[in-house]
Amino acid sequence: MTSRPALVWFRNDLRLSDNPALHAATKNGAQVIALYILEEAKGLRPMGAAWRWWLTGSLRTLSENLEARGVSLVLRRGNPIKIIAELVGDEKIGIAYWNRRYVAAEAKLDTEIEQQLLANDCAVETFNASLLNEPWSIQSKTGGPIRVFTPYFRASEERGNPRNVIGYVGKIGAAKAPKSETLEDWDLEPSKPDWATDMDVSWTRGENGAKQRLKDFLKDALKGYAEHRDRPDIDGTSRLSPYLAHGEISPHQIAEAMPARGRDADKLRAEIGWREFSYHLLHHYPALARENFQRRFDAFPWRDDNKALARWQRGLTGYPIVDAGMRQLWRTGWMHNRVRMVCASFLIKHLLLDWRLGEAWFWDTLVDADPANNAASWQWVAGSGADAAPYFRVFNPMLQGEKFDPDGSYVRNWVPEIAALPNETIHKPWVASPLELAAAGVALGKTYPAPIVDHQEARERALRAFEALKT
Ligand SMILES: Cc1cc2nc3c(=O)[nH]c(=O)nc-3n(C[C@H](O)[C@H](O)[C@H](O)COP(=O)(O)OP(=O)(O)OC[C@H]3O[C@@H](n4cnc5c(N)ncnc54)[C@H](O)[C@@H]3O)c2cc1C
Repeated sequence: MTSRPALVWFRNDLRLSDNPALHAATKNGAQVIALYILEEAKGLRPMGAAWRWWLTGSLRTLSENLEARGVSLVLRRGNPIKIIAELVGDEKIGIAYWNRRYVAAEAKLDTEIEQQLLANDCAVETFNASLLNEPWSIQSKTGGPIRVFTPYFRASEERGNPRNVIGYVGKIGAAKAPKSETLEDWDLEPSKPDWATDMDVSWTRGENGAKQRLKDFLKDALKGYAEHRDRPDIDGTSRLSPYLAHGEISPHQIAEAMPARGRDADKLRAEIGWREFSYHLLHHYPALARENFQRRFDAFPWRDDNKALARWQRGLTGYPIVDAGMRQLWRTGWMHNRVRMVCASFLIKHLLLDWRLGEAWFWDTLVDADPANNAASWQWVAGSGADAAPYFRVFNPMLQGEKFDPDGSYVRNWVPEIAALPNETIHKPWVASPLELAAAGVALGKTYPAPIVDHQEARERALRAFEALKT
């Protein structure tokens, strides 16, 4: 053990429990300096607005939880290479601990920092905290990436539980904390206008909220998850995604807390498997958010139509299930998975707009914006990804609505201007008779938009465009 202080650099692991880097720093009784950097460096993708809003709450909780153990969280904004070099020099830090990350630009930065520290007599120890299996630890028989989910997931299941959960850290020895900026300095939450009021009501950000959410989900919704997870009108999924994205909970904690077997637990494990698979893909294809995984899609004739894009973003397409999803996203920073698929398919196939426009909008508005999941999922819907949906699968928004929101309650909640329509027409208001529309107080084109495109025509246009690509 060194008498010099130890640095714990928090990044996307904003929790005290099951945090291998923090655990390693405390187990030897080192005097800890806890650091979070709002990173600004070339090559890093700026975080979206909803993500930044979440981050503020998350750091507030982390800071309080650390403070309760006598440690102050040091906040700095800027280039991490410079900040860490200064801090290590000024505070005579002997060892730095952090948990690894997997976006290529971030991993490159971490390697650079590690080399710089080692050259300056500061040891470095890094850990896996956020994935059951790190992206390179599962390989094809020839040692390369696996491009199809099923064999990937089978291989991960065969590996079994990679490690036990590390409990809440007990005592933390604190070094004298260096100067810190404040969350108020950073001003990451909106004020004028404050678009986050509904988000505040919807979420308890931070590690404590993550624990509560997991507990509630296991008690109220795990039973039936396999059946209910496709229903946006039911609170049937875990809603743990923003907590996972910010590292307020680890997949190990979720895996350990749920039953080892059973239809519902198996399904949830498979969904977490999709997250792991996305990271596997991102590791092997770092440009996943920018480039088509299948390069033949580079020739795809995307349309250029800012007006249509804006109507999609605002939930004004005239297709109720799409509009409900886009408004849920805007208001709460989250959208149900089934509806994400329908909305993404609508942008790509009905409107023929480039999937990257949708990916960017989700990146800015999702509280769970995740570099691997978001990019991989958009490419999955576009058909350009690995193990993607076939291009000819064009979601029918009316049928999707009728099947997964059968009594229209999800649509009624988010699109109140058509709430009085009967179940038969709630997912397709344009087929309602003038009398029905009048009785429900709906004037199509005035109180609620007429469909932005005709479904059948748009579907045929999309199939023609995708068919041309094939030949
Ligand atoms: C176009 C599109 C964009 C998406 N963007 C993101 C994103 O930025 N961040 C993100 O976390 N998820 C994304 N997803 C995947 C999925 O929609 C969300 O993970 C899920 O809706 C989160 O809700 P939940 O936590 O209640 O999920 P649950 O059903 O409770 O699942 C538990 C966990 O498993 C993982 N998971 C579930 N479904 C998927 C999936 N299809 N792919 C990968 N992981 C999954 C998530 O980490 C989730 O928290 C996207 C899906 C689509 C179709």
